[in-house]
Amino acid sequence: MSLRDISKEALIGTVALGVVFVTGYFFGKKKSFRMSISKSHCGGKDNPLMQYVLNHSMREHPALKNLRMRTMEHSWNGMMVACEQAQFMANLAKLIKAKKAIEIGVYTGYNTLNMALALPDDGVVVACDISEEYTSIGKPYWKEAEVEQKIDLRIQPALKTLDDLLASGQAGTFDFVFIDADKESYDHYYEKSLQLLRKGGIIAIDNVLWGGKVLNPAPEDKDTVAIDKLNKKLHRDARISLSMLTVGDGLTLAIKL
Ligand code: SAM
Ligand code: CA
Repeated sequence: MSLRDISKEALIGTVALGVVFVTGYFFGKKKSFRMSISKSHCGGKDNPLMQYVLNHSMREHPALKNLRMRTMEHSWNGMMVACEQAQFMANLAKLIKAKKAIEIGVYTGYNTLNMALALPDDGVVVACDISEEYTSIGKPYWKEAEVEQKIDLRIQPALKTLDDLLASGQAGTFDFVFIDADKESYDHYYEKSLQLLRKGGIIAIDNVLWGGKVLNPAPEDKDTVAIDKLNKKLHRDARISLSMLTVGDGLTLAIKL
C-alpha cells in the first residue's frame, strides 16, 4: 500500500458519505458521525446522537480498548476499523457460528483481535498483512486477551496466503472474511475468498464508498476505479446475496449462496 493509499484510508474516518447523509438528516448540518468519532475510533463527544449509540451499544473487551488507544498513537491510525463496525462484524460472525475467519489487511490488529474474541476456543483467524511493523503493535494485546493461539498471522502478500489456503485444500471451509487491504486487489481477494468460503459464509468488504469518490462518473485513480467496478460486479453476481451498508466508509456484505 502506497503512502497515497494510506493517506486516503486516513481520510476515510472523516468523510464517510452515508454517515454524512444520516447525520445531516438528524441534525440538519453537514457534519459526519465519523468525523466526530475519528479521534478515538470509538467516541462521539462532538456528536451527542453518536455518543448515545456508542454509550448504549459498545461492549468493548478491555484488551481491545487498550489496543485501540495504542493504535491512536500511531501515525496511520485512520486505517483502523471503527469500533462499532468491528462489534457489528463480531456479532455477524457469532450469528453464523463462525469458526474460521480471514482478515485481509490487519494493520495493528484491532479487528483481528475482535474476531478472535468472537470465535470459539477452537476457532482461527488467518491474519494477512505485509507489515511486521504494524502487526507487531497488536501482538501484546492479542496475548493480553489470551486469544493469540487463535490468530495465524502470515506476513506476506495476502493473495499468496489465500492461494496457500486453497492449495492446502481449505476451499469451502471458511465462515467469515473481512477484506480491508490494498483496494486495487479487492476483486482478486473477493474471488479467492468466495472459493474459500462455505455456503452461508460472509465476505465483508470495507471502504466500498471510498469517501464518496464512487459517485464520480469517470474516476481516474485506480483505487476508486477498482472499488466502483467491484461494487457494480457484486450487484449482478448471482453467487451471492448482497447488502451495502452506509456504516463507516461503506461496508458490503456478500453472503455465499
Ligand atoms: N482491518 C484493519 C483493522 O482492523 O484496523 C485495518 C487494515 S488497514 C486499512 C490495511 C492494511 O493492509 C495495512 O496494514 C497494510 O499493511 C495491509 N496491506 C496492504 N497491501 C497488502 C497486501 N498486498 N497484502 C496484505 N496486506 C496488505
Ligand atoms: Ca478500511
